[in-house]
Amino acid sequence: MLDASRRWRGDGKSIGLVPTMGALHAGHLSLVDLARRENDLVVASVFVNPIQFAPGEDFERYPRDPIRDAELLEQSGVDAIYRPSVEAMYPPEARTRVHVSGVSEPLEGVARPGHFEGVATVVSKLLIAVAPDRAYFGQKDAQQVAVVKRLVRDLDLGVEIRVGPTVREADGVALSSRNVYLSAEERSAAASLCAALRMAADAYAAGERDPDRLRSVLRSRLEAEPLAVVDYAEVVDPGTFRGPGTLAVLAVRIGRTRLIDNHDLSLEFPG
Ligand code: AMP
Repeated sequence: MLDASRRWRGDGKSIGLVPTMGALHAGHLSLVDLARRENDLVVASVFVNPIQFAPGEDFERYPRDPIRDAELLEQSGVDAIYRPSVEAMYPPEARTRVHVSGVSEPLEGVARPGHFEGVATVVSKLLIAVAPDRAYFGQKDAQQVAVVKRLVRDLDLGVEIRVGPTVREADGVALSSRNVYLSAEERSAAASLCAALRMAADAYAAGERDPDRLRSVLRSRLEAEPLAVVDYAEVVDPGTFRGPGTLAVLAVRIGRTRLIDNHDLSLEFPG
């Protein structure tokens, strides 16, 4: 991949990279669109990164559909798909992991030990392999964005991190590859996440600034949904992922599926 990228850069072309784990949906494709608008060439990577899944998480059953992914990426006009194998990314002798401290520690860091180390390692490797000018990430995974921005600054990777807005279904549910796990009943229950975010944004717009009260608006809406088990519901600073702040972040289990979502309460909830 690096050879092609060096050639393109030698020709004076700018390169945008969109890292994904496949099972593509309109959220991923919106990042490809953004990347196409801002770069001469777009590379999408498709790699289900084993080291960002903890034992007992859904690595084995994570949805995989390489043929459909390739079709969607070609239709959306990507110039290259980078699809490394697990063996090439992590040969048995590999001993290096990239650890970002601080912002990777609260919330997802507590709930998914090792997750952000896996993310920081794979993102480092993808950025080195593709050497893009810009890399595109979704606001849907807000803490991942903060970890990646820290990583890029700390390692002087010289790539611009661009963030695309969360793409949602008509009822407000954030698109996610994991939504395919949901039964019809669970899919209805998943709307409680965006409903909670909307209620907290309405409370904020009506003048509520007390972090405890904003948090209880989130929690009470989630707890009204019998199928939802709240992992966390907090209002944090988007740089540190600790309070106080205006970014409402949620992780909720619905049946066996863990969903996350977030919204900056100082902005109107879309839709
Ligand atoms: P994933 O394949 O889930 O690792 O996601 C790849 C990229 O797409 C990440 O940067 C995600 O934040 C982003 N993404 C996932 N879901 C959405 C969404 N609903 N809207 C916008 N971006 C998304």
